[in-house]
Amino acid sequence: MKILFAASECAPLAKTGGLADVVGALPRELTRLGHEVTVVLPFYARIRRQIAGEPKYAARSITIPFRYYNRFVGLVDGGQRDGVQFYFVDCPELFDRAELYGPAGGEYSDNAERFGLFCRATIEASKLLGAPEVFHVHDWQAALIPVYLRTTYAADPALQGAATVLTLHNAAYQGKFPPNTTEDLLFPWDLFTMDKVEHYDRFNFLKGGIVFADKLTTVSRKYAEEIQTAEFGEQLEGVLRGRAGDLRGILNGVDSTLWNPATDGHLAAHYTAENLAGKQACRADLLHAFGLEHVAASTPVVGIVSRLVTQKGFDLVAAIAEELAARDLAVVALGAGDPYYEKLLRGWAFRHPAKVAVRLGYDETLAHKIEAGADLFLMPSRYEPCGLNQIYSLKYGTVPIVRATGGLDDTIEEWDAAQETGTGFKFAGYHPRDLLAAIDRALAAFRDQKVWTQLMRNGMAKEYGWKKAARAYVHVYEEAAQRGPWPLNRPS
Ligand code: ADP
Repeated sequence: MKILFAASECAPLAKTGGLADVVGALPRELTRLGHEVTVVLPFYARIRRQIAGEPKYAARSITIPFRYYNRFVGLVDGGQRDGVQFYFVDCPELFDRAELYGPAGGEYSDNAERFGLFCRATIEASKLLGAPEVFHVHDWQAALIPVYLRTTYAADPALQGAATVLTLHNAAYQGKFPPNTTEDLLFPWDLFTMDKVEHYDRFNFLKGGIVFADKLTTVSRKYAEEIQTAEFGEQLEGVLRGRAGDLRGILNGVDSTLWNPATDGHLAAHYTAENLAGKQACRADLLHAFGLEHVAASTPVVGIVSRLVTQKGFDLVAAIAEELAARDLAVVALGAGDPYYEKLLRGWAFRHPAKVAVRLGYDETLAHKIEAGADLFLMPSRYEPCGLNQIYSLKYGTVPIVRATGGLDDTIEEWDAAQETGTGFKFAGYHPRDLLAAIDRALAAFRDQKVWTQLMRNGMAKEYGWKKAARAYVHVYEEAAQRGPWPLNRPS
């Protein structure tokens, strides 16, 4: 099949989270299965910097109309990487900026225009390049593509055959803007109704995508169920329940060219499930990087790598911070995000400099070192659509302690000492006491190194490659391509 990916992130070119990892890996796997995949991204400053020499333009000027003016965007031919063709939407006044979405913790005030333009430019680009059979669009930033296709472009003969699949990587990020966005993006006002893009008097990009896409996916089976409930649906649960028949949960894979302790170029030593000796060297290297060389070999090291946002459960960690520091363990944490949580972690390290070390910022190498060098990995998320770090942890023999939600629940199995089965430690209630109990179970298991090695090996034996996920996506593409005539069957 001919598939076009539209997304606002793609590893390694532009990344803030797990979305980038998926868009970096899934297209490559699809090409291995014989499909033709094109990825379209905004031409951010950081992508421009990664391109050798002058950009090569596939088109110099594509007109994107707005209410009071036109913008003229270029289409940069990013060439092929691993069989996947890349194009970048070049609009320097909107994308040539330091950040993807806004300054730390914030948003650029013109994000509706930036990503509205990105969606429309992607459709225009696809017409120049030859329309795909399926547009696979990701998150709110690309979610207007199905809306444009079924409204503004509904009569366009070049796009009649194209189906759409929307993947929700996180339902909390919706792209909500003032009602006037409708006019600014040249949509008719009859689109601004509660069965289409209007949501509590806001123009909601993600809701538009949910209503208009042919098929919907999200990144774990559990999260697909959770987002249909009031607790996790971020007020979109009703719309999602209305599309339940078209919604699938497909667990993300792991890019084993980047995340494999036997080959990982960021590590001080390599290791495998059969020969774990290198993991000790990685632990020593990690402790050195965090200035915790004095930590005894018998003391478990707990790792954290995370965006520092409410979603990730750091208020639970804060509530038990002093009790944890009283236990025999060391903590190494890497994160960036909300200044509130940055301060919280910094304060914890300040109070316990011999036990807790924190690095604020985004650091790919350090993230790999933590996955390899820690004994335990902490991920007490309030919700977690899929979560990648706990899967990396499994592969690196670093035992995860997670809250039983979304992809964390789907990927981690509680350790059963009697049967010697399971891969980690889970707790269900969103309560500090439950988190502490799970950590204590982990610390108790750590004391018996024979048991611990079995637990590590159980995790390392798990397969989380992309092949299975890619096959599941192809199935969804095929279903989307067989959709009935549009717009007769939806929306009602
Ligand atoms: P989310 O997408 O919600 O951030 P995931 O667990 O799905 O969570 O993916 C997070 C990805 O971002 C992982 O690849 C992780 O290693 C990476 N990451 C998050 N924070 C940092 C950081 N401060 N430095 C380096 N990598 C980070």
